[in-house]
Amino acid sequence: MTRPSTEERHGAKGAAPAVEFDGGNMDCGSGLLLSITSAMRRIGAGEVLLLHTREPSVLADLPAWARLAGHELLDVRDDGGGRGPWRLSIRRGSPRPPAPRATFTEGTAVPLGSRLWLYSNFHCNLACSYCCAESSPKASARLMPVEVAAAATSEFVAQGGRELLVTGGEPFLHPQLGTLLAETASQVPVTLLTNAMVFQRGTRRETLEALDRKAVTLQVSLDSAEPGLHDRQRGAGSHAKAMTGIRLARELGFRVRVAATLQPEDAANAEALHVALDAIGIDREDRVIRPVAEEGFAAQGVHISLDTVEPEPTLTADGAWWHPVAVTNPHLKVADTPLPVEQVLDVMRDVIAVQVAGNSQGRAVFRCT
Ligand code: SF4
Repeated sequence: MTRPSTEERHGAKGAAPAVEFDGGNMDCGSGLLLSITSAMRRIGAGEVLLLHTREPSVLADLPAWARLAGHELLDVRDDGGGRGPWRLSIRRGSPRPPAPRATFTEGTAVPLGSRLWLYSNFHCNLACSYCCAESSPKASARLMPVEVAAAATSEFVAQGGRELLVTGGEPFLHPQLGTLLAETASQVPVTLLTNAMVFQRGTRRETLEALDRKAVTLQVSLDSAEPGLHDRQRGAGSHAKAMTGIRLARELGFRVRVAATLQPEDAANAEALHVALDAIGIDREDRVIRPVAEEGFAAQGVHISLDTVEPEPTLTADGAWWHPVAVTNPHLKVADTPLPVEQVLDVMRDVIAVQVAGNSQGRAVFRCT
């Protein structure tokens, strides 16, 4: 590769690169982002990486990646009269301040391969303001086929998997949820995430009542002790229905966990919620208070990226993802199909290996359970 002169190598804003990387013909979906991420780790905040590329799609995809990763795209130069090759100058951003720790549940990373997430569907009776999955009554269902869920679970368990978490959307809107859970919970303990609003009567109640209490734990979303915050984030009347659902599930003999999702400015609600959960007998270990993730419908929240969040493999009907809060983020898609699980895990292990090789700065655990 011919090196540009020192003057040419300076970006439009006059920043000399601390490191250069030749991406050749790689596009952002074939390893380029991982390589750049590794290169970025070798420079300090405020320093510049100069990327050489001959792949036109990089011009469209890289700005979005830089924004998500907290970096600044300074300059794009075309060395070929509109056809490339191109040089892109990217300034490394400062690490984002971590979310306040006192309110939010902390945890240790689970070994990759021990926990698997499965989206049963994406449609929902609610359309919460922070929904990372962009679920709503109008969302495409993207139903997880029962046979795919069963095969994924079998493969996962055969490889040592110990915990399956089924989420959505609202899982009780999946017309075959009972069968899906029978096929999976017979192999591994399942935690089922629900808003607890639609299983209170009819055939969905029958589905609930038929579930194996020993194998299935319910995790219900409840954001506040009183309706105000919960209903503001999740819809009028949803707090009362969630409380009714929690009581019903407990009466039916289920272990019920409760998960609250809060913006930092609403953290003061956490203590009142703990008092309310004490009153209805939800154990401390069965509570998680998590911050909003800056994904899906959420305009602000914790930044989620390969660099900042520990991986928790997540399968949907149409792919696999780095983490369950990132299933609308194309930069965190690991595979275009949910199977085989082994391939999904191998890709994630490769990403981690690159990060470790690049002197990983460490990622935070983003607790959803
Ligand atoms: S956060 Fe949960 S309950 Fe709310 S819209 Fe999303 S999937 Fe539905």
